[in-house]
Amino acid sequence: MIDSTSERSNTSKHTAHPHVRYTVADSLMRYAEFLGYGDIHIKIDEKTGLKAIVAIHNLSRGPAIGGCRMVSYQTIDKAMEDALRLGYMMSYKAAINNLPHGGAKAVIVKPKVIKNHEALFEKFGEFVNELGGRYITAVDSGTSSKEMDIIAKRTPFVTCTTQSGADGDPSPLTALGVRRAIEAAVKFKIGRDSIEGIHVAIQGAGHVGYYLAKELHALGATLTMSDINTSLLQRCVDEFSVMTCHPDEIYSVNADVFSPCALGAILNLKTIKQLKTPIVAGSANNQLSHHHYGTLLHERGILYAPDFLINAGGLIHVAVLYAHSDMKKSLEQINNIYHTVYEIYEHSARENKATSEIAERIARDRLQLR
Ligand code: NAD
Repeated sequence: MIDSTSERSNTSKHTAHPHVRYTVADSLMRYAEFLGYGDIHIKIDEKTGLKAIVAIHNLSRGPAIGGCRMVSYQTIDKAMEDALRLGYMMSYKAAINNLPHGGAKAVIVKPKVIKNHEALFEKFGEFVNELGGRYITAVDSGTSSKEMDIIAKRTPFVTCTTQSGADGDPSPLTALGVRRAIEAAVKFKIGRDSIEGIHVAIQGAGHVGYYLAKELHALGATLTMSDINTSLLQRCVDEFSVMTCHPDEIYSVNADVFSPCALGAILNLKTIKQLKTPIVAGSANNQLSHHHYGTLLHERGILYAPDFLINAGGLIHVAVLYAHSDMKKSLEQINNIYHTVYEIYEHSARENKATSEIAERIARDRLQLR
């Protein structure tokens, strides 16, 4: 989606202000506009080596919340693209789950050498503080409660500090939300109150896949799993007696539920044709390779649990922590994903429209997006 070429004019390299045509910036701006962005902030601090982006997507429901990741990027435009792509998703996740927040994402471009870790994150804390509470930061890839503690020295607009009681890995909470959506789908589509004996095919035995398998196994489900990482797969075989299949075969497993917990964009014309399950519900972000595929699933009688609704367990917990509430409240709200998604299943049946379309419309209305 992003044109990563940039063109320079024939201006001499010795010219103080060469005329540079940044087609990358043009494309990023168009991409931001397309996603419905609000404001995007950049901080460059030579002394600490901080290069950070805060992409605030939407403020209509309250201050924007979203993790701060520190990752190596080959180019700044890749970092910007990541911030934009992830920030807008946070808005949708927050809105559909009725959180009093908009969405945002912060990206720190990981320096090759970090001269002073503490100084870098203090500077980032100052940056967050300058945004005056419009953005609340939290942990993400490459950051932990330790970094949030440093940021908290410079701003109150931070959560997931060690004091907040945050546990680093959100995957068990994400898995809980997915499990609740599977339970709601099984009730709605198959008419069963329990998932005992229900066969779930899980793509991915990573963080979420593992915890989802653990939850479902404890409830008596039958599991088939695939992963390109055989040792992660073996762990699930050893602990939960799962059956396994080749990564290409997971789509055609004769099960009740297909649960994508590995990659985005895996629901496309080719894979949807292979599906034998009446339900798709998993954690992966952006599962539909095109939003039309939500309609195709609906037309084929496959109940699809919208990804951004059901994989928001981590974000819900972060918002609960920021409100100084506790794990009990988080679990209550994540368990509520059952009811939120069930209403969308009902709505979809009533209006004969795809669940993805309905969930997106609700989120966009709440975010006051056209
Ligand atoms: P992860 O990297 O820990 O696990 C993903 C697993 O998928 C890995 O084990 C990888 O080997 C496997 N995989 C890659 N390609 C595969 C293929 N072709 N077939 C089968 N397996 C394959 O990631 P995760 O944290 O478990 O997240 C899984 C998905 O859920 C991602 O899309 C992520 O963005 C999304 N998600 C995760 C969370 C969370 O709390 N971790 C929250 C929201 C959304």
